[in-house]
Amino acid sequence: MNVHDSERMAGLLSAAGYVPVDSVPEAVARATPAGDGGADVVVINTCSVREAAATRLFGNLGQLAEVKRSRPGMQIAVGGCLAQQMREHIVERAPWVDVVFGTHNIDVLPVLLERSRHNAAAAVEIEEALKVFPSTLPTKRESAYAAWVSISVGCNNTCTFCIVPSLRGKERDRRPGDILAEVEAVVADGAIEVTLLGQNVNSYGVGFGQRGAFADLLRACGRIEGLERVRFTSPHPAAFTDDVIDAMAQTDNVMESLHMPLQSGSDAILRAMRRSYRRDKFLGILSRVREQMPDAAITTDIIVGFPGETEEDFQRTLDVVEEARFTSAFTFLYSPRPGTPAADREDQVSPEVKQERYMRLIELQERISAENNRALLGRTLDVLIAEGEGRKDGETNRVSGRARDNRLVHVGLPDDLAAEQRPRPGDMVSVRVTHTAPHHLVADSAFDGDYHLRRTRAGDAWAARQGETGSAGGGVSLGMPSVRTQ
Ligand code: SF4
Repeated sequence: MNVHDSERMAGLLSAAGYVPVDSVPEAVARATPAGDGGADVVVINTCSVREAAATRLFGNLGQLAEVKRSRPGMQIAVGGCLAQQMREHIVERAPWVDVVFGTHNIDVLPVLLERSRHNAAAAVEIEEALKVFPSTLPTKRESAYAAWVSISVGCNNTCTFCIVPSLRGKERDRRPGDILAEVEAVVADGAIEVTLLGQNVNSYGVGFGQRGAFADLLRACGRIEGLERVRFTSPHPAAFTDDVIDAMAQTDNVMESLHMPLQSGSDAILRAMRRSYRRDKFLGILSRVREQMPDAAITTDIIVGFPGETEEDFQRTLDVVEEARFTSAFTFLYSPRPGTPAADREDQVSPEVKQERYMRLIELQERISAENNRALLGRTLDVLIAEGEGRKDGETNRVSGRARDNRLVHVGLPDDLAAEQRPRPGDMVSVRVTHTAPHHLVADSAFDGDYHLRRTRAGDAWAARQGETGSAGGGVSLGMPSVRTQ
């Protein structure tokens, strides 16, 4: 959600006449280690899901203060969840910040930059509720071949560990016609993959009184010419219904991957978290998904050490993990978020116990991830080549991308492969898996001649962007967070 918001901020700034710093060589030349890139305007889009966010923000701002002293006229803006939460306290702690804006008023960013410049004073503006649905704002998309499309913002749930509802507000659903028009527009621009985004995609439609609206939306995406891959995030186990499983299984371009947040395998802890499903319901969803899509890759989120979690509760989480056989899991040590009910509980789990449980969970999940991936050895996969997915691609002479089920695949290319056989980001290759690891697959089958390239419109769109920007990066660097696994 934040990454997509960053794309909107970049789009608004572009529309207001700003240009990305990488397109101005003399600006790039003055970049400092503070991460300013040499820019006249630096926008930091913050997240407050994890406790470390505030520490990192003020660390970054401290470094930027130095840069600002040596570059008069430079402006620093802070937006996102932490800004929504801290408001003017950001300027109190870092008086060199020029603009603070919240999650509900991204649209005012250019105006606030202008106002602060004109008044030579900080401009802080936070809205309590959303006025403009952010998808109506201009967007500068990071990728030429894959796009995020919001279907809703906010969340009506009240999970006791989560700060999102108080910072993003109640769920607001976007009309299906608007969503489909945006999907068609990004496809017309060259994208072949779309990820539908919402805090809780399964409650989509409640806002306009239409049950089954999310399944209908998936089926409608299936009818869009040229759209090859549809993904979505995040579903909620409490609201996940079988019509969505049917729609996934029956719609060719909806991928066989599902992110289903477990959080805990203990019913007592789920109750304390105010998550309204229980272990059996969760496992039931997984088995119905696998009945219809045997190859589905299911990933999850798990919180370790929620207040009151006993060894027995934790053991239940391990049991569910063993049974669920997730492809991978995002595991988090519980950290109290001020302003959430769980933060005030007195039965916090000690850091040592949390850490020890966390290590056991990681060890178990690594084993399962390795076993699941090993089962794919020798399988031929369609991989959508991506940009920036493999850190070691340069040294290993590989390119990287995602299989249909969203697994990361590193694809080996022989040195003597003809130029017209080399894939561009956005192109598709069919390759055979030759090596596996817990977090990625390697497909070096091109060395045995087992390699098929399909050039796509998305690859053409990527190449056209290179021409436009004259750089290898394309678009605006949004500092996209990613899980590096290679
Ligand atoms: S469903 Fe729960 S965890 Fe997810 S955004 Fe809503 S309150 Fe937060």
